[in-house]
Amino acid sequence: MSQNDPTVDPTPRLSIIAPCYNEAETIVEFHRRASESARGAVGDAYELIIVDDGSSDGSWALIQQLSGDGGRTVGVKLRRNYGHQAAVTAGLSLSSGRRVLLIDADLQDPPELLREMMGLMDGGAEVVYGKRLERERETVFKRASAAVFYRLLDRISSIDIPVDAGDFRLMDRRVVDLLLAMPEQHRFTRGLVTWIGGHQVPIEYNRDARYAGATKYSLRKMVRFAADAITAFSVQPLRIATWAGSLTACFALALLVYSLTQWARGLVVDGWTSLIIAVSGLSAVQLVVLGIIGEYLGRLVTESKHRPQYLIDAVQARGRETRLPSRAVDADAPWRQALLANYTAPAGPAASDQSTGSVASIRAIAG
Ligand code: UDP
Ligand code: MG
Repeated sequence: MSQNDPTVDPTPRLSIIAPCYNEAETIVEFHRRASESARGAVGDAYELIIVDDGSSDGSWALIQQLSGDGGRTVGVKLRRNYGHQAAVTAGLSLSSGRRVLLIDADLQDPPELLREMMGLMDGGAEVVYGKRLERERETVFKRASAAVFYRLLDRISSIDIPVDAGDFRLMDRRVVDLLLAMPEQHRFTRGLVTWIGGHQVPIEYNRDARYAGATKYSLRKMVRFAADAITAFSVQPLRIATWAGSLTACFALALLVYSLTQWARGLVVDGWTSLIIAVSGLSAVQLVVLGIIGEYLGRLVTESKHRPQYLIDAVQARGRETRLPSRAVDADAPWRQALLANYTAPAGPAASDQSTGSVASIRAIAG
């Protein structure tokens, strides 16, 4: 296949996107299994985009080596650790495949499932999402917190987000474009995909143990992720705040009646305990309610800033690294053209136009 032949459709049939944060121990094996699985499904017409989310353990050097395979593997280096969801979005916005597989780089989601997922998509599905049956050797805390989180979200969210499904999923280009067109900053990808609607089918699988290393989701990141998911898809907590406020108001009223009665009976010095309980109880409720409002308000502030969700530092493909300016500039800037000429996969320069498409506007470079 000539790289410069304009009659050859350069659009890959499949893009695989893997976010990676300090996965040096895993990345080579992941690359091997993911590439093998992609070749089995679509031959050479795929691109494997590995997004390095600010790793500090040598992952990027390994990704650079892996990307010497003729443009099929593309490394994307973010300027710092922006978080899993931002890394996923960065990969999506640079992808050009007709179908896109989101998969973790730690091999907890088996790349070999791709074939079956492609089959379901051939049968008409627009999204095939992995539904976890077993979570091999994950800690009791991780499993319990995930179970509670998914069920809570299911109860309070305004849409039916599938329970026990992560971001491991195959999506068709139309869904990916719709997903990228949503500008929100605090992204809960699996929720946004559900929100898009259309024909979405589950595929059940057993979640393996990590190939190596420990989870990169610290407790802090997990809590923030859960808060992002809940605030993005539900205003129930605000209603709960209203209810809590109303209940405590009733309680305060009862207390008022009690205090006045006591006063009328001349027992005013008494009641220190009840006073302390009332004051501390009411302030606690007030602070919790303020906190809930703050969670929403804080997100409103970030949204209103329109800051990019991530900045790309460099893109590596065909053994060459293209470093990018850290500020977003207009889509036709010469460096961007240079990037696309370097990046386009799997074919040569003729691919630039198709691979940019409508979504890969400036957002492709800076969130
Ligand atoms: N990850 C990332 N940025 C982060 C945290 C995680 O890109 O800040 C990647 C990580 O390398 C992995 C995927 O996201 O490929 C899922 O993370 P992890 O396996 O640590 O989460 P878990 O499976 O334990 O929920
Ligand atoms: Mg994992």
